[in-house]
Amino acid sequence: MNAEIIAVGSELLLGETIDTNSAYLARHLAGMGIGLYRKAVVGDNEVRIATMIEEALARVDLVICTGGLGPTVDDVTREAVARAVGRPLVFHPALLEQIEARFRSFGRTMSPSNRRQAYVPEGAQIVENPVGTAPSFIVSDARGTVVVLPGVPSEMRYLWEHAITPYLRDERGETGVILVHTLYATGMSESTIGEIIADLMEQENPTVGISAKRGQYELRIGARAEHQAAAAALVAETEATLRERLGEVIIGNETLEQSVVTALRARGLTLAIAEATLRAPIWRAVQATPGGGAIVRGVQLWQADGAAGAAAERADAAARAVREQYGAAVGLGACVGDRAADGFSDVWLACDGDLGTHRWSRRIDLNTDEGWGFIATSAFDTFRRLLGEQ
Ligand code: ATP
Ligand code: MG
Repeated sequence: MNAEIIAVGSELLLGETIDTNSAYLARHLAGMGIGLYRKAVVGDNEVRIATMIEEALARVDLVICTGGLGPTVDDVTREAVARAVGRPLVFHPALLEQIEARFRSFGRTMSPSNRRQAYVPEGAQIVENPVGTAPSFIVSDARGTVVVLPGVPSEMRYLWEHAITPYLRDERGETGVILVHTLYATGMSESTIGEIIADLMEQENPTVGISAKRGQYELRIGARAEHQAAAAALVAETEATLRERLGEVIIGNETLEQSVVTALRARGLTLAIAEATLRAPIWRAVQATPGGGAIVRGVQLWQADGAAGAAAERADAAARAVREQYGAAVGLGACVGDRAADGFSDVWLACDGDLGTHRWSRRIDLNTDEGWGFIATSAFDTFRRLLGEQ
């Protein structure tokens, strides 16, 4: 079974509300082995919603809508679904009674506009909503099934868990799983990796995807199967192929930072860091890594005054001085050189101590946050290589 998600609400299009419902549904569909082909967001407009549902039904078996089931005139998902499946809305007195009872339980009287919520498309299966007023419903025709859920995140999640999941498992026989496994890689350009694994990226099951961040890559393997064990076997097979083809480039199941921190800890090596920038990209990356703070003996940060030219020597001196000052096994220094006309800067890094004395540089565009992150990636990349050589 394949699915699409349609999130309804003009507030989502205005950027005021972040569409978290779709992310929740996407995760849970994957967990059930239902392939998600698209997610869409549409405003509170009956014709546009209906058109989107019809387009989705032409592509997939299952369309999940969330939002726009409320009592006000701008909540038009009910009407849109009726239009898309070509059926009239039918009034259900029993639903109205439930909605009234819910208001009574709060000690309030139902307003006449809530009456709209007692209408569902003819032939729809009603899903009662014990945690809100908007009932949910499921309607099917020859093209497929439309599941309609409220927009309030807690209500949507409740109904997904307690009504829609059982429906898909028990009435529709959806028992599969999608297992996602991530491998981390670094030290090669994204396009080169892409060329080496192009055939894997084109295969349908398992799928292989790559995303890049600060010179590091996440390789995601997604396998779809009837059972967890079968999915795990598919993942393992593709993982072995990726490791074989990419060799050293694959870090493993941990990020670059995490693998270096783990290796330093395993060898009992402590670290002292000196950075000639208050942005502290290296210290920030270490701090954000579980266990990272524990191996650091001390950190020095200062605002470089643009002392021209000597960034390389200053990085050397900083690595040595900070190591001695804090009695760490390894000192790491970073100094940013002058910004060139093209906006790039030479960043000099140096280390001193138990991993040897080394100096290296990278030319980095420091006009973006992403660029500053490359300084940390470069430091960790070198540490990974030095640790590997030991
Ligand atoms: P109800 O009648 O219970 O209010 P509803 O189906 O009418 O439900 P909406 O009016 O569309 O729901 O939205 C209710 C609330 O849920 C709003 O605060 C909205 O910002 C939030 N919401 C709606 N859709 C989403 C979404 N896709 N992700 C996160 N929040 C959402
Ligand atoms: Mg709404």
